[in-house]
Amino acid sequence: MHSHSGQFCPGHAKDQLEEMIQAAIVRGMQTFALTEHMPRNSNDDLYPEEVTLSPFSTSITKISKIEAGDTIEPLFARHEAFLIEAVRLRQKYSDEVNILIGFEGDWIRPSYANLILGLASDPTVDFFIGSVHHVHQIPIDYDATFYKAARDAAGGTDELLFEDYFDSQYEMLKALKPKVVGHFDLIRLLSDEPDRDLREMKGVWEKAVRNLKLVVKQGGLMEINSAGLRKGLKEPYPGRALCGEFLKMGGKLTLSDDSHGTAQVGTNYLRAIEYLETLGVKELFTLDTNRHIAAQRNLSIRSVSLSSVKESFRA
Ligand SMILES: [Zn+2]
Ligand SMILES: [Zn+2]
Repeated sequence: MHSHSGQFCPGHAKDQLEEMIQAAIVRGMQTFALTEHMPRNSNDDLYPEEVTLSPFSTSITKISKIEAGDTIEPLFARHEAFLIEAVRLRQKYSDEVNILIGFEGDWIRPSYANLILGLASDPTVDFFIGSVHHVHQIPIDYDATFYKAARDAAGGTDELLFEDYFDSQYEMLKALKPKVVGHFDLIRLLSDEPDRDLREMKGVWEKAVRNLKLVVKQGGLMEINSAGLRKGLKEPYPGRALCGEFLKMGGKLTLSDDSHGTAQVGTNYLRAIEYLETLGVKELFTLDTNRHIAAQRNLSIRSVSLSSVKESFRA
């Protein structure tokens, strides 16, 4: 339910979009979602590697504001090109895999609601993932320097930063009602104790549980995102305590690799499936469409047994 290609995410992904789809077919996937990062609408929100988009910028240091003359225009043009190519590939491979076309929504500040909902209103777009990668408008999963800056902005401790992260996520959920929620506890990644049980931090836990309840109420799918394992965490996103709580509430899980290249398509899926088995999960959910009808693609939620996912997956 979540992938990036080097073709449309050149800063930190690899390979062509078509190669991503071919890799998904080889690994036995029946549904594969194309969800490039959305274009951001402020120069302040560019990542360091994106500064090279502009011929005007020179020596940019991390956490500096982008120099005047940098532009976000290439991001919007790239998004348009992505949608056109995605439609072509969906058609080309329609007999082999159900391609969903989406994007990863990036909640940087409340004004992004209009931008995300505007992009989502494109009839080509089946859905978007609701993700939070920033707290106090500073990236929290990019590198240790940014993470520390965000933590300082939150008051200097992981606990305070986690609270602010889940508050920001709550605003995102309320404003966007995403059909898929991205890496729910991403904030763990660069913290001092990434595998820590969030129940140890009462304020954090209460906010996270509040958010889980809202996801269930909104009928959103929570992705089990195996990229957490690829990045060295002991459990995928979200961690065991959160997953257990979500399942108790009747929440629906989907499966994502958050791949950034063909080598990561399905990476750690068997480990993620084993993790779900230990949580007693018997079924996953996927978004489905009346796939052969190009116009009016009605989206629905379909149940898939975990055992059938495991059997059809080719590592
Ligand atoms: Zn993400
Ligand atoms: Zn992603």
